[in-house]
Amino acid sequence: MTETVVELSHVTAGYAGLNAIEDVSLSIMQGEFLALVGPNGGGKSTLLKVVLGLLAPRAGTVRVFGSFPADSRRRLGYVPQAARFDRDFPISVSDLVAQARLDGAHLFARPSAADRAAVAAALEEMRIAHLSRRPVAALSGGELQRALIARALASEPEVLLLDEPTSSVDARMGETIYDLLVRLNARITLVVVSHDIGFVTAHAGRVACLNRTLVCHAPGALATEALAHLYGGPVRVIDHTSGGGAH
Ligand code: ADP
Ligand code: MG
Repeated sequence: MTETVVELSHVTAGYAGLNAIEDVSLSIMQGEFLALVGPNGGGKSTLLKVVLGLLAPRAGTVRVFGSFPADSRRRLGYVPQAARFDRDFPISVSDLVAQARLDGAHLFARPSAADRAAVAAALEEMRIAHLSRRPVAALSGGELQRALIARALASEPEVLLLDEPTSSVDARMGETIYDLLVRLNARITLVVVSHDIGFVTAHAGRVACLNRTLVCHAPGALATEALAHLYGGPVRVIDHTSGGGAH
């Protein structure tokens, strides 16, 4: 039986006077490649924060591997938007990726053999092993994006949440990144926030569309229609009402 790894049930969350997401119910199954799409300000990043336990819901419940998000935090990897990353921070790519292996208590400890192996494997997996000594400030957009994914991978997550991983790269690098994600999906559950509907419909197994509420929670034609309405063109959407999808 497929395991539910993330379960949101009637979740409302937001900031000050604003509900950024409202009454969202969504189940994410182990091994899925779920794309989260929707307009700017639709609540996509907020939903990721709720899953990560960085923002508590005002109403509803969130479970990650059956526990409160904070208690499952180590099983999740998070790749923030590259555009928000401060590139001038003076560290090398391997130091950036190694951050994933540190926790507060061991900041000054020497990396273990397991730490070094995890960092090397993550760099290799993102095809940036040759850049390990390069200062982060000297990376291209696509290289930085892959370094940020490698950092998340180095913590050996079971679920990887990525916030707009192709928004600061060209189409060709976007394709490369999606190819790498598809490979990762062989062992890691993926939740990808994206505006690249072409990539999403080509690679993701399921599409959830968020515009404060989850608007694409219907099968087939209805979901396609909702997405087409939001993006102004026809798109293909896979029915996600089976297997514990959105309700
Ligand atoms: P998306 O990622 O889909 O573009 P967000 O989740 O970032 O949407 O934002 C949803 C809404 O919440 C927007 O109206 C945004 O302005 C607001 N918002 C996001 N973060 C904050 C914050 N830290 N404080 C106040 N409002 C916020
Ligand atoms: Mg966002």
